[in-house]
Amino acid sequence: MKNLILAADLGGTNLRMSAVDGDGSILQRVRRKTPGHSGANEIVELIYSAAQECKEKLGSPASIAGIAVAVPGTVDVSRGIVLDAPNVRSLSGFNITRAVSKALSLPCFLENDANAAAIGENRFGASVGAMTSICVTLGTGVGGGVIIDGKILRGIDGTAGEIGHVCVEPTGAKCGCGSIGCLEQYASATALVRMAREMKDDFPETSLVDDELLTSLEIFEAGTRGDELALQVFKKQGFYLGIAFAGLVNVLNPEVLVIGGGASAGWDLFIEEARSIVHQRSYPEPGERARIVRAERGDDAGVLGAAAVAFENLLKLT
Ligand SMILES: [Zn+2]
Repeated sequence: MKNLILAADLGGTNLRMSAVDGDGSILQRVRRKTPGHSGANEIVELIYSAAQECKEKLGSPASIAGIAVAVPGTVDVSRGIVLDAPNVRSLSGFNITRAVSKALSLPCFLENDANAAAIGENRFGASVGAMTSICVTLGTGVGGGVIIDGKILRGIDGTAGEIGHVCVEPTGAKCGCGSIGCLEQYASATALVRMAREMKDDFPETSLVDDELLTSLEIFEAGTRGDELALQVFKKQGFYLGIAFAGLVNVLNPEVLVIGGGASAGWDLFIEEARSIVHQRSYPEPGERARIVRAERGDDAGVLGAAAVAFENLLKLT
């Protein structure tokens, strides 16, 4: 009987819980809504009940070796504490591993969600075998994870890898982090909508209707129909991704850069520009070497990475 990890990926709106084996196969999955403004104990209860449901679906006898939790925030993995979680405020300062471990009587391991996605793609997805890789997730915001010599780069305070907050436009749009012109303001789903609005007057023929409900999906669909405004929005997204990547390529000399997340749907419309900017702006050798590829594990990357963290930590303990 194979050992399994119950891996949870906690988002601001959803909790995904999966039972994962050591080969990265997902045997069962459960999804729950994260109630708004939940307290820390409510979140622990949510994880507990999703874990119980997952175990029931697995049937007996399932051999669960541990539980892993990925959270959207800065984490201290060695102490199991969430340091700061802007989208799940109640978790800031909370020792989530102790609480979850106690509730389920299992060893619990913590990881940041973007780092978990980077590890998931590295162990079981688009960057398998690469010792040095970078993963960016283009969603409502832009998350990042950097793997150096097979290990996630954490930095002294655990905040490393915030690629979404690299400045790509010094006089650009204000960012939620307090800075200006961050990549997140040019490459996220939210940014695609804002840029379409800003640029629409130059494209009177556009089929896009600028109302409150304009979404990045509509811009993507318009782009696939050849709408010039949408195409220019994606070109801009590619341009700014290229600027950020060129800098990362020069600093880190990665083998692979992985792009995932919902706002990477327009891949065919932005990737040529991104690659061209990387080649123009990075040193020739690392620029040629770095492959820019699409994420392969989609929404599962986070749970797979969290599970990999748990497996690797459990191995250390034995
Ligand atoms: Zn920022």
